[in-house]
Amino acid sequence: MSLTARELLHKLAEDAGLTYPTVAKRINRMMKKGSGLIESVQEIAVEHKLKPNKYNINPVKIVAETEKILREDYTQTLMISAVLGQMIESRGKERFPPPAFFAYTEMLFRISDAPRDVKSETSIEIAERTTRNIELMTTLVSVLCEWSEQGVVGVADDCPDILRDIARAIFRKTKLLQGGLWTCISCGNIVESRETRALMCYECDSKLSGSRSIEDRYESLGENDRRSYGRSTE
Ligand SMILES: [Zn+2]
Repeated sequence: MSLTARELLHKLAEDAGLTYPTVAKRINRMMKKGSGLIESVQEIAVEHKLKPNKYNINPVKIVAETEKILREDYTQTLMISAVLGQMIESRGKERFPPPAFFAYTEMLFRISDAPRDVKSETSIEIAERTTRNIELMTTLVSVLCEWSEQGVVGVADDCPDILRDIARAIFRKTKLLQGGLWTCISCGNIVESRETRALMCYECDSKLSGSRSIEDRYESLGENDRRSYGRSTE
């Protein structure tokens, strides 16, 4: 069973006798027109006389694998958070899509009970886990949320019930961002996105008084963020 969009597209390309770039281009075009990832993949599978239900992704398994990675080592998770945080601030091709970043903060919320023990992962391992997380999160948002040309427009009809809270949170924060508002990664307050500093509101950033420590900046990511809404009140 594939866990990421890339794995699924590779499987389809191989089975259909197409090249990966051909499949990827076609899927991109279909998704830009508002077709879902799985829907697009299955449509191409049918065209090639393949059984469509063989091409699926289980979002519950994506969440499980992400949790596993993020529970491995506290320092590693902070490093991954820092890389993703920088990627969402950057412009252009390298930019981590905001909905995927919001999915990531939801994952951090799920592991907030994890012990903060510190092993010593090498930088290569951390880079590998970061790449894996990027793929898992971009895939997760493409299957949990409903998409159109405008981006995320809601929760996917087939989103599993146990993941609906995550999908709703992604949708809500994405919509806020489209309206020029950002959810501070530290206190969870909603502020004008152009007034944020390194993903934080002015107050939280000032409290760090210019500290560049990754730990200071990212340790509360995904925690307070939740408190201000409350998962159960929805
Ligand atoms: Zn704040």
